[in-house]
Amino acid sequence: MLPDKRGYFGEYGGKFVPETLMSALSELETAYAEAMADDDFQKEFNHLCRDYIGRPTPLYCAQQLSDKIGGATILLKREDLAHTGAHKINNALGQGLLAKRMGKTRIIAETGAGQHGVAAATICAMLGLECIVYMGSEDMRRQSPNVNRIKLTGAEVRPVTSGSCTLKDAINEAIRDWVSNVQNTHYLLGSVVGPHPYPMIVRNFQAIIGQEAREQVLADYGRLPDYLVACVGGGSNSIGLFHPFYNDKNVKFIGVEAGGLGLETNKHSAALLTGKTGVLHGTKSYLMENEHGQIRETHSIAPGLDYPGVGPEHSYYKDSGRATYIAVTDVQALEGFKLLCDTEGIIPALEPAHAIYHVAKLAAGLPQEQLIIVNLSGRGDKDLEIVTRALGMEL
Ligand SMILES: *Cc1c(COP(=O)(O)O)cnc(C)c1O
Repeated sequence: MLPDKRGYFGEYGGKFVPETLMSALSELETAYAEAMADDDFQKEFNHLCRDYIGRPTPLYCAQQLSDKIGGATILLKREDLAHTGAHKINNALGQGLLAKRMGKTRIIAETGAGQHGVAAATICAMLGLECIVYMGSEDMRRQSPNVNRIKLTGAEVRPVTSGSCTLKDAINEAIRDWVSNVQNTHYLLGSVVGPHPYPMIVRNFQAIIGQEAREQVLADYGRLPDYLVACVGGGSNSIGLFHPFYNDKNVKFIGVEAGGLGLETNKHSAALLTGKTGVLHGTKSYLMENEHGQIRETHSIAPGLDYPGVGPEHSYYKDSGRATYIAVTDVQALEGFKLLCDTEGIIPALEPAHAIYHVAKLAAGLPQEQLIIVNLSGRGDKDLEIVTRALGMEL
């Protein structure tokens, strides 16, 4: 199973970091391997997944949505019902426990939309760890409710005012902090990106999504699904769903990237569909850069998809054809958002609203017996201001 010993998924991945971080990455890799072999660690993770996060999350048959579309049967994996309202907490819990085991007392994290910052701060409060969250000043403005949630759970938010003042700049700052404080500090990375072993560790903690979904669909329908669909920012909620089905070759994977204002406009975040191979934040993968090798500004209505890179395992899936990737625009995502609100009374986050839009299109052309599982990676409370403004509603 990939990655290989050097942390590569085919030609993607690896460790492109300053010398000072090499030993920290090795230490993390060793500690992770030991934790995985330790029944007590697994027990504690599973116990807190159940009683703190609220797992397993339901696999809900969206009958009203399916009926309205009149095609395949659509099942929602309800990560929106996890504590703090998104899948990010699964990984934050796993890495928090790992950091404690390694004797690290200080946690740093980066956040774009604020969801990972909230998850990291929440877990640190519960485990009694100091927490510092780097966040672009532009993102702090766009996502102020999440800034307050992070502060309320006792973490410090450090504004980042370099570059475009968004997620990629916050990651740069977090890496800089880690280089200087690596002795007592764990960098709690929020997606399946960064240098090895992060893409592997985050995937494995998020794989609980797919493990549960696999058991649930077999119990409820006696068979595997035909399609798995999920939105792709860094790629953690999608890989978490896909990974446990990797060897089920009849289960098709579809990743949905942020098409922003349209792929022809340059204002989007579709790294897999439009990017080229390069190195960003310690890993080799598809990424969006200009002709001078500089990282391009990205755009998406969904703050959690607004990132110029993508996890290396997705690049491998793309090249090998194991998964298909498509893009959904801002306007289409809003349509997906409304559709789920109207048919099911569920307000999705704008990120999975991209996946909902595509699933509605896909389901329409398929017979009713076909099963589609879509990852509802988060709930929409954080996005109400963006959505009401975009739809021209009064609050
Ligand atoms: C952060 C986020 C995403 C995107 O991140 P991935 O690593 O691609 O999963 C998607 N949905 C929600 C709700 C998020 O908070």
